[in-house]
This record gives sequence, structure tokens and C-alpha cells, in this order.
Amino acid sequence: MPNILFAARSEKWEDYEHLLRAALEAEGLDCTLATDLAPDTVDYIVYAPNASVQDFTPFTRLKAVLNLWAGVEQVVGNPTLKVPLARMVDEEGLTQGMVEWVTGHVLRHHLGMDAHIVNPDRTWDTTPPPLSKDRPVTILGFGALGQACAAQLAALGFPVTGWSRTPKDLDGVLTSHGDDGLDAALSSAQILVLLLPDTPATTDLLNADRLARLPQGAVILNPGRGPLIDDDALLAALDAGRIAHATLDVFRTEPLPRDHPFWAHPHVTVTPHIASTTRPDSAARVIARNIARAESGAPLLHVVDRSAGY
Ligand code: NDP
Repeated sequence: MPNILFAARSEKWEDYEHLLRAALEAEGLDCTLATDLAPDTVDYIVYAPNASVQDFTPFTRLKAVLNLWAGVEQVVGNPTLKVPLARMVDEEGLTQGMVEWVTGHVLRHHLGMDAHIVNPDRTWDTTPPPLSKDRPVTILGFGALGQACAAQLAALGFPVTGWSRTPKDLDGVLTSHGDDGLDAALSSAQILVLLLPDTPATTDLLNADRLARLPQGAVILNPGRGPLIDDDALLAALDAGRIAHATLDVFRTEPLPRDHPFWAHPHVTVTPHIASTTRPDSAARVIARNIARAESGAPLLHVVDRSAGY
């Protein structure tokens, strides 16, 4: 009978308690689930990095930590964490939300919707947008979220390139990887989507040099993490008209400070880290399934590679 500690912000307990209990029961797990357990009795921690647990040392019989978030940058380097860390991969909820956000913002820019939504001069411009087949999209970060977005965009007819660290294969999508593949992925990208994790290797990945490799007038969507972009280089590229627009969901400092130039920039759209979020109903099933696997001796799913940082 495993003991499971729910260690996330207290208001989350209300969202998750009944759903987690039901999901654990559906997996046939007879367990204790609570927000307060003696550390040396805990087998699993359902975790959000903004929770009170920062030191895992007292959790002497811990088997695994199950992160409620896809991003693990706040916990992956914790030296007191000695057991496997699983991150959130939830096709029904988190992934679906990201697919909808990315597709919506790609279509907004592809169709040039802004010019018609705000048109104070009542301009009758009959120029049609190109078809999707003529609008190449590149997705940097071709994991759970990047691949799902790529599949949806490819189904809509966009030529999609996905870029990752290691080689990947997805029907109907061009793929490239590593430093050698990045130049080509950038130079074709009329719309660039960042779905990389925040790691030492991805910090400032989109710097002035790489921004300069994008086609004139490219659009950038960043639902990944703020540090992927060198903010000053992006502002310079926007001011110079090299980059037509940036739609940014994530920032180095969140909430984005009210005096940050992104808020006022005419070619920046700020969304407040809502591209996607963990949905308790489906996430509870993901967590319960993973604990059931561990209890049955099967390997955990979605285990973070601590050395790679994601
Ligand atoms: P995955 O781990 O499944 O995918 C990450 C991808 O990035 C993989 O393709 C990986 O390559 C690639 N990658 C990592 N490091 C490098 C590198 N140095 N060079 C090239 N490619 C690299 O993560 P998810 O798709 O689940 O999530 C991606 C990120 O999205 C999260 O880490 C989080 O930051 C962000 N996110 C944002 C949300 C929001 O609301 N804004 C919500 C949820 C997530 P490889 O395949 O070779 O391992």
C-alpha cells in the first residue's frame, strides 16, 4: 500500500484530491494520498516545483517524484533528489491545449488576421493570404508537444520542419537535429515555434546571430520558455523590421514586469503563460497510471534525463 504525498500549492489539492483518488482506485491501487505525511513514510511525491518540498533528503523510502508540469527546470538540478523524476506528458490535456494555442497563433499570422481585426482606416485590401502549403513552419523542440503541433499543422497543409537534439522521424514532416540541422531549419522558417525545454544548452538559443538567419519578415511564437530567446536581440530585430511579429507566452521573469518593453511593442503579443496548462482530470490519470506501473515493476514513463536537463 504505497503512500503518496501531494506536494503542490495548497489550492491545487482541491482540484486534484478527488480526481487523483478516483484515478488511483481505477488503477486498482490501494494507497494513502495526503498533503501531509511523515517524510520517511512517503513512496511517491506528486510534485509541483513551487511547492514547499525543496529538500528531498528526509524522504528516505521515496521511489519516484511525479512532476505535474512538463517543464522541470526548477527541480531537475536539485542535488537532494536521488530517485527518478517523471515529467507530465498528457496528450488529452496539456498536449491538446498546446496544439490549439500553437495552431491558433500560426493561423492568426498566416492569415494576417490582425490587419482586419484592427482596421481604423477601413482599408479594403483584397490581397489574399497564401495557402498553407506556401508558408513553411519550423518547430524547434520536437518532443511530445512539438510533434503533436507539427502533426496538426502538417494536416492543415503547412510544410513543417521539426528540429531536435537527436534524430526524429514523423510522417509528413521534415526533421533535422543538432547544430548542423539548425541553420536549414531557421532559414526556411516563415513562422518559427519554440517548444524547447529550458536547459543550459538552450539558453539564448535564439540569439542575434540565429535571428539573422530567419527569413525577412518571419514570425516567432514562443510557448517554450523565456530564456530560449535573447530578449534584447529580439527587440532589435523587431525594431529593424527583420522580424514581423513575436507572440510570447513565456518570459525570463513572470509575471512579465509591467514596464517591460514587450508589453508596449506594436509587434509583440504577450500571453500570460497560458499556452497550455496541466488539466487535473487527465493529469490525474497520467499520474495514477505511472504509479501503477512503478508498483507493478514496469519502468516509469516520461523519466527525465537528469544530465540533459529535461
Ligand atoms: P520534450 O522533452 O518531450 O521535448 C523537448 C524537445 O526539445 C525534444 O525534441 C528535445 O530533443 C529537444 N531539445 C532539448 N534540448 C535540445 C537542444 N539542446 N538542442 C536541440 N533540441 C533540444 O518536452 P515537451 O515537448 O513535453 O515540452 C517542451 C517544453 O514546453 C517544456 O520543457 C516546457 O518548457 C514548455 N511548456 C510550456 C507550456 C506553456 O504553457 N507555455 C506548457 C507545457 C510545456 P530530443 O527529442 O532529441 O530529446
